[in-house]
Amino acid sequence: MSRYIFVTGGVCSGLGKGVASGSIASLLENRGYEVRMIKIDPYLNVDAGTMNPFQHGEVYVTDDGAETDEIKARIFRVGEQPGVDVTMVEIGGTVGDIESIPFLEAARQFIHDIGRENVLFVHLTLVPVVYMGEPKTKPTQHSVRELREIGIQPDVLLVRSHDPLEEDLRRKISLFTDVDKEAVLSAYDVRTTIYEIPLVYAEQKLDEIIVRKLRLPPKGLVRDGWRAYVDRFVGATRTAKVAIVGKYTDLHDSYISIFEALLHGAVANDARVELVKIEGEELEDGRDLAGVFAGCDGMLVPGGFGSRGIEGMIRAVRFARESGLPFFGICLGLQIMVVEYARAVLGLADANSTEFSPESKHPVVSLLEEQVDVKTYGGTMRLGRGDSHLAAGTRIAAAYARRVISERHRHRYEVSNRYRKQLEDAGLVVSGLTPDESLVESVEWPDHPWGVGVQFHPEFTSRPTAAGPLFAAFIDACLSQKR
Ligand code: GLN
Repeated sequence: MSRYIFVTGGVCSGLGKGVASGSIASLLENRGYEVRMIKIDPYLNVDAGTMNPFQHGEVYVTDDGAETDEIKARIFRVGEQPGVDVTMVEIGGTVGDIESIPFLEAARQFIHDIGRENVLFVHLTLVPVVYMGEPKTKPTQHSVRELREIGIQPDVLLVRSHDPLEEDLRRKISLFTDVDKEAVLSAYDVRTTIYEIPLVYAEQKLDEIIVRKLRLPPKGLVRDGWRAYVDRFVGATRTAKVAIVGKYTDLHDSYISIFEALLHGAVANDARVELVKIEGEELEDGRDLAGVFAGCDGMLVPGGFGSRGIEGMIRAVRFARESGLPFFGICLGLQIMVVEYARAVLGLADANSTEFSPESKHPVVSLLEEQVDVKTYGGTMRLGRGDSHLAAGTRIAAAYARRVISERHRHRYEVSNRYRKQLEDAGLVVSGLTPDESLVESVEWPDHPWGVGVQFHPEFTSRPTAAGPLFAAFIDACLSQKR
């Protein structure tokens, strides 16, 4: 039977519950346990998937493309899959918010459903420093009290602070919260990379504490991939400077998986990555792009919805294609590549996606039902994992070193099959297709150092110690460009 670990947060938002959950899961996996993760966004009757990234941050996509909730049944459905040792449930928001109450109540009921010894509550709090540099534990005490009012006594506290917590503060927090002193962990700010966090927890024996409290039978495995990763990260000598031309570039969180995946790709090349974030909209005034992208080693256009900034992105993409700047287009980025190519190379001046111009005479990107030759599909979002078949001899096939791949999708519009042949005849390489060949999954520019667009989102499956192949290949192209 799976044990359940609930991760909550108090005092304020943005303490890093996701990172904490991921770090704990990784420590348990390193000991051989099979772990599943659930992230709950505590909204009722709101489709979190359609919220503006400015308010909400990125919309992450899982293999099954799930966007729904139905609290306890959904959690059990994950935990009851065969072979699962631990199910981690991160409850978003801050304890005390009205919207999270039903979710915390669901967590509390687990104590009765499966027994206290099979449930572990991890609570993140903050010890702020007030003037004269004095760290304060009161907000932590209050936030634990709030949790206890709901009926949840935390087993582990991860106390966020700028510097490591002094022993006497840990003792004080333990005294006022009834959490064992050894389980009051100092989750201080790391100075290198967030991937050092599992090491900080391991140093304080968090994995041992969890294994003991949940009575997890030993699996006889102790692995540690993080030290090597952190060392490689710290030791990187080269830098790839990558321009991101998007529409939510002001908020770091809206493209967080892409930024992380670029970092994974950089570390795989023993390099660092420097990001230059540019709003597509700003490039619409005709300014000189050679100046804008001077010093950049590559360009990436990420996913996005709606027409704001599209013409600026098209200009940027044309600049990358014509100047030989390594280019990586993701989802919307691929669609922009296709529109730009149709305009400049096929000479279809008003080519567009029907998302931005429903009246376009040349809808090279459109909904499937708008493409007369395919009538059977609906206009709903294509979500979750799906296979692509890659053409031999292409950059994407070289990057993955295989011909069949499986990546996650989240989009509505497709490259129009009515224009596929024309585009190919004009040189655009269609390098990936769905297994039934009905949809374009990736394209590449001919005669270009590295210009690849994908309809799927490879950033969601990239991992620090197993970089997404396209990110590693893209960064490699950026570094070669530099030489
Ligand atoms: N808006 C585009 C579509 O729906 C691209 C989506 C995306 O980039 N995730 O197809």
